[in-house]
Amino acid sequence: MAGQDTSLTCNNGLTAPALSSLLQRIVDRLEARGISGRPIPPRSRSLTPPDGAPARQGKTPDGVVSLVGAGPGDPELLTLRAARLIAAADAVVYDHLVGEHILTLIRDDAERVYVGKEAGNHTLPQGEINTLLVRMAQAGKHVVRLKGGDPFIFGRGGEEIEELVQSGVRFEVVPGITAASGVSAYAGIPLTHRDYAQSCTFATGHLQDGTADLDWAALARPHQTVVIYMGIGALPQISKQLIAHGVPADTPAAAVQNGTTDHQRTVVATLGTLADALAEAGLRPPALLIVGQVVKLHHRLDWYQHALAEETA
Ligand code: SAH
Repeated sequence: MAGQDTSLTCNNGLTAPALSSLLQRIVDRLEARGISGRPIPPRSRSLTPPDGAPARQGKTPDGVVSLVGAGPGDPELLTLRAARLIAAADAVVYDHLVGEHILTLIRDDAERVYVGKEAGNHTLPQGEINTLLVRMAQAGKHVVRLKGGDPFIFGRGGEEIEELVQSGVRFEVVPGITAASGVSAYAGIPLTHRDYAQSCTFATGHLQDGTADLDWAALARPHQTVVIYMGIGALPQISKQLIAHGVPADTPAAAVQNGTTDHQRTVVATLGTLADALAEAGLRPPALLIVGQVVKLHHRLDWYQHALAEETA
């Protein structure tokens, strides 16, 4: 969407060489103890393609695709395996939510392909991304398909893998810290709490026709935390529906923009007032909505933004 600042940048001042050498030291230590990364996965020929048909005939490609979660932004929230694969890949195909400092791990001679995917602005349609991954793997490359957060949580990871299975391309999946987990931690909002929330639901706010294809009654149940991805645009409808389904309008609600980066911003209000509060604060995507009593804890547990403020003071 035009005018949105969707770039995520690093906090904690880790420079690219520092990040690479830190990674190398960790990998060296693990290897010195006989712990090395898992080998590249076996050929997926034996996997049944999604529609039950046999895998396409022809030469099985030598390349491999690692579908990797990059976490929510802070490069230190990468898994070790993710960092190691990014640093070793022949090609990296990445989305807009991948923090720019994470991209500095890519080898200088590796191919980089930005495939976008900002809300409403897909640089490359999903079908073409799927085909591109297959083509690169068939050319014998080790491709890292890098996605923000976790590839299996609102990340279309499943769709991309189905195409790989269909084409007999070897693949693996490396989970990442999903936004709900990383962003809530850095915002000081525990998603569950013995006093307030015994369960937590992740939902997408990217509503198909702008209205109600979510199970509002389920989302409105008490004693849970509801985390909504991609929900800023539809927040007025989301609040309206939740309130109509019985959630008290004064339920604490928060929106966190650019969580885990040094541009993290949090706005706390109530379900009834959050949309106006966001408009007033000018808070924009990428942002996560968190609705539930646990949001009350933010004022006491907001460690990260305090640390950022101290750093810049
Ligand atoms: N696969 C990703 C989610 C992709 S959907 C994951 O597991 O996190 C994109 C949405 O995720 C954004 O619209 C926003 O709601 C949320 N998101 C991702 N990174 C975020 C961040 N650093 N801060 C706030 N929200 C974020």
